[in-house]
Amino acid sequence: MYEGFSTDGNYRDDLISISNVGGIPGGDAFLVVTESKSAIIDAGYSFSAEKMMRNIRGILGERQLDFAILTHSHYDHASGAAYCRPHYGDCRIISSEYAARIFSKPTAIDAMRETNRSAAEFYGWGDYEDRLGDLKTDITVREGDVIDLGGVSLHVLDAPGHTKCCIAFYIPEEKMLIGCETMGCFASKDLVLSSYLVGYQISVDFINRVKTMDIDKLLVPHFGVITGDECRKYIEGALRSAVMLKDFIINDHLSGKSTGEIVEHYKDVYYNGDLRKIWPVRAFYLNAEHLVPMVIKEILG
Ligand SMILES: [Zn+2]
Repeated sequence: MYEGFSTDGNYRDDLISISNVGGIPGGDAFLVVTESKSAIIDAGYSFSAEKMMRNIRGILGERQLDFAILTHSHYDHASGAAYCRPHYGDCRIISSEYAARIFSKPTAIDAMRETNRSAAEFYGWGDYEDRLGDLKTDITVREGDVIDLGGVSLHVLDAPGHTKCCIAFYIPEEKMLIGCETMGCFASKDLVLSSYLVGYQISVDFINRVKTMDIDKLLVPHFGVITGDECRKYIEGALRSAVMLKDFIINDHLSGKSTGEIVEHYKDVYYNGDLRKIWPVRAFYLNAEHLVPMVIKEILG
């Protein structure tokens, strides 16, 4: 659980500016602009993508968008990337190799199309053009690779835990970590939800790695940039949330609850307040029904 942050998530200094250009809360995208380059970090949903493109244009003016950089392949982060090239012909999509493989599977694209459709309905969003057939990674990156963003460099960290395809980025010039959901999913000012769909320990390992890094700024997915002590608090909190959720599930299991009952208990305790407004209940169940048995199996064998 979290207290509110002291900032609105947008950030600017001499080297870099970062603005949330997402078309809708939950479908967030962060436009990073340096002296000579620009990129979005994540790209939101399909249905809100054209609104995101207008937000990007509003900031970039006549400048080009160079990259759409995806932290992972989930539909609420990746779908909008397919809408960049019609507006910015030279924009290149960057992801992990694993995410690139997912985008190349028609069944995965179909699933993204369907979850977008159901989320659009949830939000009461009108018609939109489906471009997911064009979603393809142009450049794959992995641990140790460096993306030159004109004056600042994004050093790639493999960060599996939320998904197998998760990556994060460290910008040494800024002591900034561009985080991913392996550190938890920012849900509202009062709640960061652990979301380790691949594994509990592998996620905790990544958060512990982050704890050892020299970080003064942190881009929190679905929120934006926090700085100074708030970064350290967030990272500590991410670790605490991860352990708490694991204990919650294991205690329920040991008290004799079925997986279905644990999922409902999890929903009662965690899926409330602002989260209900920004996260379709269907998506909550998809995550929870996967996460609960995974944790029981990993911890108890
Ligand atoms: Zn995700």
